[in-house]
Amino acid sequence: MQTTVQTIHKGFSNGVIPMPYTIARYACGHGVEMKYRDERSNCHSPENWLIQSGAVVDCFKCDQNREAVQRIIAFAQTPEYSHTTLRDLTASKTGEWMAFCTYRVDRTSPTQCRLEMSVEATPETERALVEAGIRFVPGPSRGSMARL
Ligand SMILES: [Zn+2]
Repeated sequence: MQTTVQTIHKGFSNGVIPMPYTIARYACGHGVEMKYRDERSNCHSPENWLIQSGAVVDCFKCDQNREAVQRIIAFAQTPEYSHTTLRDLTASKTGEWMAFCTYRVDRTSPTQCRLEMSVEATPETERALVEAGIRFVPGPSRGSMARL
């Protein structure tokens, strides 16, 4: 999916010798490490960047999300489909790593289900799932959900 470079963030790695790096943040919310003309040259110098602010770029992560959403929608049509949850995979409260987790019915599991696939929660993935009629509940799975 095409998006634009919104901001460029310069930072240093954590380590004995902090190494400079640069992240290009896209309008879609994703980001990638900058591609440089010369990796050994100054990573913080705009002259060394192959992507500049405002540039139109293809977002690989958006493409991956779109494919994952299509797999979830297809799986939800099958009898093996149990339910989908929206959960924070890091167990933190930041909301930065929220994911839609889709479960398969598994009568041998104490929870009556097991994780089949997941996709990053973004405004785009949420809209696509809602439009496909897939409802999701917050939080980790409880066994009773498999019987909903
Ligand atoms: Zn993206």
